[in-house]
Amino acid sequence: MNVETLLQSLGPPATAYQGGNLTVTSPGDGAILGRVPETLPADVSPIVDRAHAAYRRWRLVPPPRRGELVRVFGEELRASKEPLAHLVSLEVGKIRSEALGEVQEMIDICDFAVGLSRQLYGLTIASERPGHRMMETWHPLGVVGVITAFNFPVAVAAWNAALALVCGDPVVWKPSEKAPLCALAVQAVFERACRRFGDPMRTADLLQLAVGGRDVGRAMVVHPRVALLSATGSTRMGRDIGASVAARFGRCLLELGGNNGITVGPSADLDLTVRAVVFSAAGTTGQRCTTARRLIVHEAVHDRLVQRLQHAYGSVKIGPPLEEGTLLGPLIDAHAFEAMQAALAQARSEGGRVFGGERVLEDRFPHAHYVKPALVEMPEQTAIVRQETFAPILYVMKYRALADAIAINNAVPQGLSSSIFTTDLREAELFISATGSDCGIANVNIGTSGAEIGGAFGGEKETGGGRESGSDAWKSYMRRATNTVNYSGELPLAQGVRFDVVP
Ligand code: NAD
Repeated sequence: MNVETLLQSLGPPATAYQGGNLTVTSPGDGAILGRVPETLPADVSPIVDRAHAAYRRWRLVPPPRRGELVRVFGEELRASKEPLAHLVSLEVGKIRSEALGEVQEMIDICDFAVGLSRQLYGLTIASERPGHRMMETWHPLGVVGVITAFNFPVAVAAWNAALALVCGDPVVWKPSEKAPLCALAVQAVFERACRRFGDPMRTADLLQLAVGGRDVGRAMVVHPRVALLSATGSTRMGRDIGASVAARFGRCLLELGGNNGITVGPSADLDLTVRAVVFSAAGTTGQRCTTARRLIVHEAVHDRLVQRLQHAYGSVKIGPPLEEGTLLGPLIDAHAFEAMQAALAQARSEGGRVFGGERVLEDRFPHAHYVKPALVEMPEQTAIVRQETFAPILYVMKYRALADAIAINNAVPQGLSSSIFTTDLREAELFISATGSDCGIANVNIGTSGAEIGGAFGGEKETGGGRESGSDAWKSYMRRATNTVNYSGELPLAQGVRFDVVP
């Protein structure tokens, strides 16, 4: 199916992807997919104002009714799963199965949010004063600005939108400038859900797009009516956004870079380990925030594991994302390829032994960037290993004592995901304990990537500290009020303070 037929089936009008100045090319073959008109930074303010007006209406709708809109959105996503996944593959180069998985993640978070719409509960807290009741209530927060990265062009927006909508908040979404078509398609699917929901007065403007680059994102960042800015991307972006939002006392939810380590103990089940490491490190062509970038291996199994990984890497089929059997699609663009080659050169200069990493399929796809995944044996955790390079490079290091492995795992600025492969219960428990991994995600006998939506997703340190998706991540999208109700005829003050006046 060509891209135009695909977009027509998904629903955005042709004017949304033709004749504009933002040219969208496919990383799979370099073909032009569309020319999207960009939002002017000056147009962001009216968009946010419309969202704010929608907030004033939407916060009055009971949460379970808000959940009904998200339920219908989930149904529409189910109906559009195939074409939307196809578009994800075309626009960012994800293989078919991962693109389908990404759309499934959107459906899953909608299901989760529907249930949540009946569970936005607060605590009742014991009051120290007689005849008083203390409780907390959760209220809609306001406009949520969502800025997303290219590598999850649909799921991350859905994580935010599904929760924001049941919490009573409209969303203004700035997708990556590398993936605006996916955003246009998602908005069209959402508009279908709004029409079926049957209350267009209340749903118009609940999900609006602002398409463009940093300057458009910047206009959202500084807008005083954006109550929460949820931003997913590089640490460099988060550092800039975080400071600007803090300067106006806005709220930020940051999901930034990762530099995820897998520790392999001497008792590890190596069959399991090899499969998990290859998926975590080479899958999605190394372009997940949770991609495994560091392998910290006990010296007793190091050589055996490296040999098996080299063999497994050799069997991974690299090719166009929609071709049958492909496991590794392209890098997103030439810049990503150059960054990968520069990192490998630096690794060599820091004493690394590099296997793989070279460009392939150049004759067939001169305008795309396919690479062999790289395995790099490092003498220690040097400067390049501590950086996130958004490409399939796995640095392998040896350790002798588990305490050293944990120290290596934690000695990077990022703190997103981590895992240990071991059949030793004590090692597993130590790794996920308070003195173990310092990451937001710490797994045992599964890889670093491929999280489920039910858990809170996010990481510490330079990963930004935000939590999205499951568990109680919804609390970021609401404001908490503590209420104390006095149903006595007295006016006792807390902490025994006396302040007697004649009324
Ligand atoms: P990027 O930082 O280049 O861009 C991300 C988004 O931020 C884009 O929409 C971009 O236009 C916008 N942006 C960039 N600088 C901005 C600024 N100063 N002000 C306002 N907006 C700005 O990232 P990318 O290359 O699209 O994605 C890869 C990065 O994202 C990696 O570092 C990866 O680890 C990270 N990521 C993190 C998570 C997570 O959940 N922690 C998930 C996906 C991707």
